[in-house]
Amino acid sequence: MKIKNMSLRKILVFLLPVAAIFVFCVIYIKKIYDINKYYYHSDPENSLVALRKFPYPYMAALAISNDMDDTQTLDEFLEIQKFINTREMTSMGQGIGLNIGNSFLPYEPANGAISYFSGDPNVSATIIRDIRNGSIDVIHSYGKKPGLSRSDEHAMLQELRRNDCRIEVWVDHDRSPSNLGDDVTFGLGDHPGAKEYHADLTLRYGIRFAWLGRVTMIAGQAVPIRAGMFATIFDRDHPVYSAINVLKEIAKNALAVFGDKKYAMQENNDLVRVASLDDGQRIYEFIRFDDYWRGVGTGATNKRLAYVISRKTLDRLKEVGGYTIVYTHLGKNNDCPQYICPGTQAALRNLAREYETGNIYVRSTSRLLDYYVAHKYLRWKYDSEGGKTTIRIRDIADPLFGTTVPNADALEGITFYVPDTARTRIFLGRKELDRLRQNPPDSAGRPSVTILAGGKGRSETASRRSPSNGPRQEAVPEESGISGRAPAYRGGAS
Ligand SMILES: [Zn+2]
Repeated sequence: MKIKNMSLRKILVFLLPVAAIFVFCVIYIKKIYDINKYYYHSDPENSLVALRKFPYPYMAALAISNDMDDTQTLDEFLEIQKFINTREMTSMGQGIGLNIGNSFLPYEPANGAISYFSGDPNVSATIIRDIRNGSIDVIHSYGKKPGLSRSDEHAMLQELRRNDCRIEVWVDHDRSPSNLGDDVTFGLGDHPGAKEYHADLTLRYGIRFAWLGRVTMIAGQAVPIRAGMFATIFDRDHPVYSAINVLKEIAKNALAVFGDKKYAMQENNDLVRVASLDDGQRIYEFIRFDDYWRGVGTGATNKRLAYVISRKTLDRLKEVGGYTIVYTHLGKNNDCPQYICPGTQAALRNLAREYETGNIYVRSTSRLLDYYVAHKYLRWKYDSEGGKTTIRIRDIADPLFGTTVPNADALEGITFYVPDTARTRIFLGRKELDRLRQNPPDSAGRPSVTILAGGKGRSETASRRSPSNGPRQEAVPEESGISGRAPAYRGGAS
């Protein structure tokens, strides 16, 4: 009897953990299945007329989000801008002419990076010019001025307003006290009691999107979670490091699925989520991508960008049909013989080819995020009979910053699958859009029409159907979710 009890106990000791792991896995998989339903629900495959995920003919979308750290001279900044954003001749050959954008710092010690208030009027004039032409679209926090306070931050916003500069993307910077994030970047910018508090002013000015320090190693956001997506992090040339990265990324996802706040963005692998700041305001938080084998965040240098946007990454991005916003610091280039390392120049030229051949939609961070929101919250309906299709666009039901009736420019790239492109008409309210492009069948075998910028409505201002149009005077109450900020949509060439 005693012997029997002993072996029973042994079996139980063995079985209980196995059973616990089994139950955990079943619950985890069930939760992932429920999370993924959201993506399947938006899959247009079965509808006669449907919204295509990306503008035709692109299969994926990418932005490079460059933080200005260590960009120490105006010459360096200008040369990098010329290479990434124009086709002009540079010291590194002809520019690649993509719409990549850049960021700027209001305050920063001179041994860090050039900044708006550095005292050099050429730097501030360049920043203003580039914000206005769209080649700077991100404010990289207020920087690291000793004793930084609300009045310094207010002064920057006044400068932007005075110069008619619109910025809608915020990116936390290192340990700047003005940061908005809590978990990775430890900022006080959204703590109402702190002298650095500015989130009320900054959101009222027009910031809609913020990066709060979160980075993913998975290439391709806004796609369902699959076991295989974690496996792609593995790098045969660096098996130990990359295997640890795979496990870490799975662990983050599992923690998020079971309610961990720090990794909440890893839960459904989306590009954007609605986040609450410490003062109760809400903002669109986005995640950035870096899969460098040494670990998350280690690839954000000029030289390592070549790895992060390698052919392997871009192929993966196209395969899953995802969005990605790449995290980098082009100014961290001490180990490069030129402003941009030769390997990174080659990777960027390869990216330009992917854009030119219609594979990857490359846009600046703000324009990619604008497209994402416009696409996600677009409200429209259609009639289709005998191949004749009429699409009526109502508005963009932005749950955070209010419903807008966009102008045609704000819908640039929006693409609808239709049965007969020649017999399709699209209306925005009562106005018929006059600039559409008819597209042949794509890899899904479906023809489509794309809305082009510059059509009817170009000169009109988008109107916003929100209760308080005009500048917002107070922080938005948590429950309303609507602000009265002027619409930030813009379109057309930058
Ligand atoms: Zn930074």
